[in-house]
Amino acid sequence: MKDLRFDNRFLRELPGDPETGPQLREVTGAVWSYVQPTSVPAPRLLAWSQDMADALGLSAAEVASPEFAQVFGGNALLPGTVPFAANYGGHQFGHWAGQLGDGRAISLGEVVTDAGDRWELQLKGAGRTPYSRMGDGRAVLRSSIREFVCSEAMHHLGVPTTRALSLVGTGEMIERDMFYDGNPRREPGAVVCRAAPSFIRFGSFELPFSRGDTGLLRQLVDFCIRRDFPELEGEGEALYAQWFRTVCERTATLVAHWMRVGFVHGVLNTDNMSVLGQTIDYGPYGWIENYDPEWTPNTTDARGRRYRFGWQPRIAHWNLSRLAHAISPLFAGMEPLQAGLDHYAAAFSMANGEMSAAKLGLSEWQGADDGELLAALQALMAAAEVDMTLFFRGLSEVDVAADPLSRLEHAFYDRDRMEAHRGGFEDWFQRYADRLASDPLPAEQRRARMDAANPLYVPRNWLLQQAIDGAEQSDLTGVHTLMAVLRRPYTQQPGREAYAARRPEWARDRAGCSMLSCSS
Ligand code: AMP
Ligand code: MG
Repeated sequence: MKDLRFDNRFLRELPGDPETGPQLREVTGAVWSYVQPTSVPAPRLLAWSQDMADALGLSAAEVASPEFAQVFGGNALLPGTVPFAANYGGHQFGHWAGQLGDGRAISLGEVVTDAGDRWELQLKGAGRTPYSRMGDGRAVLRSSIREFVCSEAMHHLGVPTTRALSLVGTGEMIERDMFYDGNPRREPGAVVCRAAPSFIRFGSFELPFSRGDTGLLRQLVDFCIRRDFPELEGEGEALYAQWFRTVCERTATLVAHWMRVGFVHGVLNTDNMSVLGQTIDYGPYGWIENYDPEWTPNTTDARGRRYRFGWQPRIAHWNLSRLAHAISPLFAGMEPLQAGLDHYAAAFSMANGEMSAAKLGLSEWQGADDGELLAALQALMAAAEVDMTLFFRGLSEVDVAADPLSRLEHAFYDRDRMEAHRGGFEDWFQRYADRLASDPLPAEQRRARMDAANPLYVPRNWLLQQAIDGAEQSDLTGVHTLMAVLRRPYTQQPGREAYAARRPEWARDRAGCSMLSCSS
């Protein structure tokens, strides 16, 4: 751990807040504030990611040492760390919310590995910062497990994401009113160490823009391009335009992946959008089980369902339009920004087509016709209550010529509904068989292509909840096993059938499984 090399460019190259300490304040003219993590009574390592430890060059012995839990629980500082909280704003549920900032995330600094990779390490739940507003700066075990497990699972699913190194229990109980209904409960606290090359968000640019601080805005854009997009060349407006286009493209790829694996972020506010096009801020997210484009896991979103599964592509576009607006002072006219937004639509369509082709086992996506074929399937899946993950995974095993549904029964939540739609599925399989017949891919390759695009194991909400129930009783085996299974989401793992099962009935309406809140 002592060998971690820090190179804190964010602090070195960008203006900071002259005031120190955690007292709440508006911070203008600066993008960060010095703040120390608040110590916790009994830090204990509950889980860690071998892959992330390897990426940072940390050995198993270092991870197991008592110092590790001290450092990643926020009680001790490694040499080279200069802890800070970042300042940013954002649009929440479509409305400008002003200054938000890291209310409970404290960055330790930027580690540069021997391979030359940059990882900013951030402790989430490490105590109050100047941006904590009404909050206590802490995080509960339940939400920390959700962030820790899903970050690493997403990485192994091939979805761009921030990462997580460790989960440390704090030995402290904190109070949360999970559904904001006057029923608070005391819950164990935890700290997750998360990692990403950059935690700059769309909202990072929106805040200086909202204050008319074009100087700071330009400084932040220049810095972000230099540090996070070094491959971009050129200067001035042309460089900014290229950068925005790249952000649009990465966001398009990201959202296409979410649609591929059935992930619903749940709070796509602009402060929860990484400029790198990574999934960030795992809160009341959820996984599609019975296919339903209208579903949102977030109870706070239940009324408008702004963040429903099927709306994610358009919400990301809206968020990008907020970013475009925020950086518009750096442009003479809106054309390059409009071009970037148009590119988002084209790039999403392209990525989504490519991924959908892989899911269906087609060698290439034939625009409108294949779009119709897929839409017809999705309509049937929604009407017949079909598990998205199990259906697509099972599709590579069916014999399209002989009773294809017989191999997919396990994907249906309701037998009666399956029977009611049997005719519809049979017609669809006929169309699908015709389409496959015109596709040159040999059967073996088709199957491999499908199985690489259709995961078998995803962090289903109820699987996470079971792991959380165990952890709250000090039994971490559920978390560890889930982590192990989710390291190989595309590979069938004998003995792990329970992790690839349909949602059980008990989970249909249980808090944490079908309903989640922002309270974390
Ligand atoms: P989120 O909904 O988690 O993206 O958070 C929105 C804003 O609220 C961010 O500025 C967070 O840092 C802040 N926040 C959320 N929970 C807490 C908490 N327990 N203590 C302090 N700030 C918080
Ligand atoms: Mg956030």
